Amino acid sequence: MRFPNDCDPMASKTGIDLTARQRSRWATLIDERISVQRDLPWRRTRDPWGILVSEVMLQQTQVDRVRHAWPLFLASFPTPSACAEKGQAAVVRQWEGMGYHRRAVALYRCAVKIVEEFEGIVPESEAALRSLPGIGPYTANAILAFAFERDVAVVDTNVARILSRAVAGTPLTQRQSQEIADDLVKANKGWAHNQAMLDFGAMVCRSSPLCDGCPLKKSCRWARSGFADPDPASKTAGTARPQAAFAGSDRQIRGKLLSLARAGRQNLEDISELEKEVGELRVQRLISSLVDDALVKVTARGLVLR
Ligand code: SF4
Repeated sequence: MRFPNDCDPMASKTGIDLTARQRSRWATLIDERISVQRDLPWRRTRDPWGILVSEVMLQQTQVDRVRHAWPLFLASFPTPSACAEKGQAAVVRQWEGMGYHRRAVALYRCAVKIVEEFEGIVPESEAALRSLPGIGPYTANAILAFAFERDVAVVDTNVARILSRAVAGTPLTQRQSQEIADDLVKANKGWAHNQAMLDFGAMVCRSSPLCDGCPLKKSCRWARSGFADPDPASKTAGTARPQAAFAGSDRQIRGKLLSLARAGRQNLEDISELEKEVGELRVQRLISSLVDDALVKVTARGLVLR
């Protein structure tokens, strides 16, 4: 049977000009030349709850901060049952310093659902993982690969960048990245392959890539084009955009309001001080957003954790 587009079923799947032979060559190149570099604490376990917690933390917090916070969180909430029993306020309190507190609420709800619907055990199917609060396609794949050692590709911003520059040489949609990435995972090597790709994207093929001495440079399509403008990663779906400054941002003020709630004392005067500093309407809007996110309640004493 003949296929259009280089007579190759793989090439027609994504619309990217990559034959099955090229994909197989890339799988071998990556397997031979890229390896796991960072010794991160969550890489020493396959405990599904521990991996799930690490992945939720890593969604929006830098590795160095998660390295410190992850063991402390697990010491307080070693299992989904312990997390569900201790309550949402305890989880939000423990989340201090991590930012994006909606994740703490989602993690608590996730623990409750695991207890109520999965007998306290993190489920092993993609569909069941995706049914948990706060678990999207990326995090579900990461749990499958890193806890259950399944051969699925984990495509985060780092990996999408590598694929668009080195393998495709052109910007990719999220679906194209996932399809190419899936083809690069060799059987029974999913755990190491994915960790190595994450490390390579974080340490070598960074947003400002370190191409000199890169082990993939000879084959990298973007390098072979003479690094033609624009960088294929710049228009690839899911690649990180620069984050807005934290100082003076809504995120910072939400953090201050949450700290007041976390302290557990009367805080009406502190809130009025904050209103004088940054504007009453802005503070009230952000309090409403914290209430909507189920993080705090407004009481006669001010804000308290839910
Ligand atoms: S040569 Fe540069 S752009 Fe290509 S894979 Fe290596 S680091 Fe990335």
